[in-house]
Amino acid sequence: MKENLLGLDAAGLARFFEGQGEKPFRARQVQRWIHQLGVSDFAAMSDLSKALREKLARTASVTAPGIVGDETTADGTRKWLVKVDGANAVESVFIPETGRATLCVSSQAGCVLDCSFCATGKQGFNRNLSAAEIVGQLWLANRELGSPSRSHRIISNVVFMGMGEPLLNLDNVIPAVRLMIDDNAYGLSRRRVTVSTSGVVPGMDRLRDECPVALAVSLHAPNDRLRDELVPLNRKYPLRELIAACNRYLEKAPRDFITFEYVMLDGVNDSDANARELAAISREVRCKYNLIPFNPFPQADFKRSDPERIRRFAEILSRAGLTVTTRKTRGDDIAAACGQLAGQVKDRTKRRLATRIVAASTQ
Ligand code: SAH
Ligand code: SF4
Repeated sequence: MKENLLGLDAAGLARFFEGQGEKPFRARQVQRWIHQLGVSDFAAMSDLSKALREKLARTASVTAPGIVGDETTADGTRKWLVKVDGANAVESVFIPETGRATLCVSSQAGCVLDCSFCATGKQGFNRNLSAAEIVGQLWLANRELGSPSRSHRIISNVVFMGMGEPLLNLDNVIPAVRLMIDDNAYGLSRRRVTVSTSGVVPGMDRLRDECPVALAVSLHAPNDRLRDELVPLNRKYPLRELIAACNRYLEKAPRDFITFEYVMLDGVNDSDANARELAAISREVRCKYNLIPFNPFPQADFKRSDPERIRRFAEILSRAGLTVTTRKTRGDDIAAACGQLAGQVKDRTKRRLATRIVAASTQ
């Protein structure tokens, strides 16, 4: 079978070329063609010899997943449905803002963790995305935005806040992130690539050791009782352990704070008492808050907190000395806002199996 070069990071590509009996600098040349220039056809890689181009065409490919849906809202948010195989499609969302533009990527088809307020969780879990399918979302977005070549790139930030839990797919997320921050590929700063986790503690330690980038943690509750309900993974890694892992992460993080995400659910986690309790636990770690108004989806059991409640909640946190931003809701008219991404996931009751795998792999 042909090797798909799209998902190989610098070390992987060097190994591939070595296996072909080629010099390591060939790997660097090909990496630039693929990721800096957006080229997938070896025949167009004009600084390689004809013989090498022909050999590559026989042994390798540069294969991105296909786009099967493309929607744009009035505010410029754009959502692509990316088909990764016959049964599964995931979503990527492009969010332009003044001074920066963010691509939100998916890391799994579905998610096994089943947070009660999340559309992706409700879809079940099918499989991990490969590194090519993850970095392929950035490659495709650059192409679709008409800027395949690095000199004209629009995307300045990547966030792993699409479908899936990135820290349960680190074997593929790490090479994809390495390509995103590699100067010989996309060259994004480590501070501008953010991995978001619901709190997979061993994964936080591994990311810290192997490829530290900005980290967002989906907190959503100020105590274990409530967090156990909203984010079931909390039963395995309760708040004390999660906060300790945040502090370990900060030792190597490119930013000196963790971003805590907090979804605002009417009457559930948005009271003044919740805010005060949150302020108290926040003294244990350097952090900033990002409040996310809940985005509804079909079958959701929650309601969004009203704007005045969110304002008051933010005020209590900022009076306690914390930096708080409230996320603007973007793209909800095309179900592209946080937590609304569902894609197409063929579940086939794989969830129970996957839950066991997660339990085993996170011991
Ligand atoms: N699995 C990872 C990353 C994907 S979710 C994680 O949970 O962090 C990205 C963010 O959207 C998380 O903070 C998640 O909790 C939040 N989210 C999920 N469902 C939501 C919803 N319906 N409304 C608003 N935010 C939601
Ligand atoms: Fe999975 Fe994150 Fe959704 Fe929870 S919020 S179900 S971890 S994608």
